[in-house]
Amino acid sequence: AKRDGRDTYAIFDPSMYRSVLEEAQQRTEMERALEEQQFRVLYQPVVDMASQRVVGAEALVRWQHPVRGLLGPYEFIAGAEASGLIVPLGRWVLREACAQLAQWQRENAGAADLKMNVNLSARQFQYAGLVEDVTAAIADAGIASAALTLEITESMLMQDIDNAIETLHALRRLGVHLAIDDFGTGYSSLSYLKQLPVDVIKIDKSFVDQVETDSGDVALVDAVVGLGQALNMRTVAEGVETDGQWMTLRRIGCDQAQGYLFGRPGEASQVSRMLQAATDT
Ligand code: C2E
Ligand code: CA
Ligand code: CA
Ligand code: CA
Repeated sequence: AKRDGRDTYAIFDPSMYRSVLEEAQQRTEMERALEEQQFRVLYQPVVDMASQRVVGAEALVRWQHPVRGLLGPYEFIAGAEASGLIVPLGRWVLREACAQLAQWQRENAGAADLKMNVNLSARQFQYAGLVEDVTAAIADAGIASAALTLEITESMLMQDIDNAIETLHALRRLGVHLAIDDFGTGYSSLSYLKQLPVDVIKIDKSFVDQVETDSGDVALVDAVVGLGQALNMRTVAEGVETDGQWMTLRRIGCDQAQGYLFGRPGEASQVSRMLQAATDT
């Protein structure tokens, strides 16, 4: 069941009914924004359940719009997807995130195993130059390919499952890791999961929200964690906001978590501070 209204945004996006002219205008505006470096990447820490230490971060894009202020992805990703600008924008995010990871690894003792997660959009995932872009981003940043995890959603996989599996294998051959994002909100059949060369299952926030009080959500998260263990996939809970959720998820056996409890998406320095705090203790 789709309970996270924001995840269904794209389907009901009124911008889909915008005129061709408006779409062209937004593309031009976003192209200029990309040139003028109005986009920014924020990083949300990913924390290991057992050690309670930061083990990585997820890159989340923002648009510092000169007139409209700081825009979140729900305000421009759908438009970028429609116009195709998501391909160069996504490439920029990927390169920026890989470079940031290299910097964290250089500057922080004990951060050698730190990981970076980057979201891919549907169009980016279908783009023929994706593998080349990822290869170049890793090489130019000088990071290990296994330090990069690309996040894709179930619905992206289901659009053309055979092609999708081929792309996943090509990415996997590079050595990057793959995560299924927003797991549980799409329509994929479970039987697909074991065919997918995926390393990580990200449990959607909508299942985490009531995990303290709703026995149905406990059962669901428990089942997903069990599935992950059986298929040798790591499970990461997203949207963890309270100690109660954290403790429940830990009891269930979830491997890692992200959420406002540990840190909102923020400047790279937030992650640096967490890394330093961990080595200081
Ligand atoms: P997502 O991949 O599911 O990312 C998690 C979203 O949940 C982020 O929203 C994050 O800020 C938010 N979040 C994390 N922890 C909490 C929490 O404890 N409570 C609450 N209420 N929210 C939390 P954000 O940054 O607005 O991003 C929204 C979506 O936009 C992402 O969902 C992802 O699908 C997409 N997105 C973000 N950056 C990129 C990007 O660079 N490329 C592409 N293609 N999509 C992106
Ligand atoms: Ca994500
Ligand atoms: Ca997610
Ligand atoms: Ca989500």
